[in-house]
Amino acid sequence: MARLSLVSLEGNFYSCKHCQTHFALADDIISKSFQCRHGKAYLFDKVVNVTLGEKEERNLITGVHTVVDIFCVACGSIVGWKYESACEKAQQYKEGKFILERFKVLGPDGSLYMEPQEPNAAGCDVDDVDLII
Ligand SMILES: [Zn+2]
Repeated sequence: MARLSLVSLEGNFYSCKHCQTHFALADDIISKSFQCRHGKAYLFDKVVNVTLGEKEERNLITGVHTVVDIFCVACGSIVGWKYESACEKAQQYKEGKFILERFKVLGPDGSLYMEPQEPNAAGCDVDDVDLII
């Protein structure tokens, strides 16, 4: 396997639950009020050690957004998405920002967040959900 040069973060950071690659600092969290299919998601100003997927349009609760999935650069697991652009002016603060799905990353204390299983979650046909206020 090729050696990767990974960025190391210091302080309170979130990391890959599979390979402990560092992703983002707790200080760079913009919002914790996001929601994805599997529970909570956090909006970050900066994320490191990820590769970007293909651009696609997604219809989220707050409107149509162009997003790309983001993957752990070390193990390739999908960890969230990045907002490329938003149609609605009110949503454009998210452009260039990153979502990490909370259950896919380890918290600053190494904790793994588990979402309580909802009885109907499997039958839910929403795509990616978005900001819940
Ligand atoms: Zn990983």
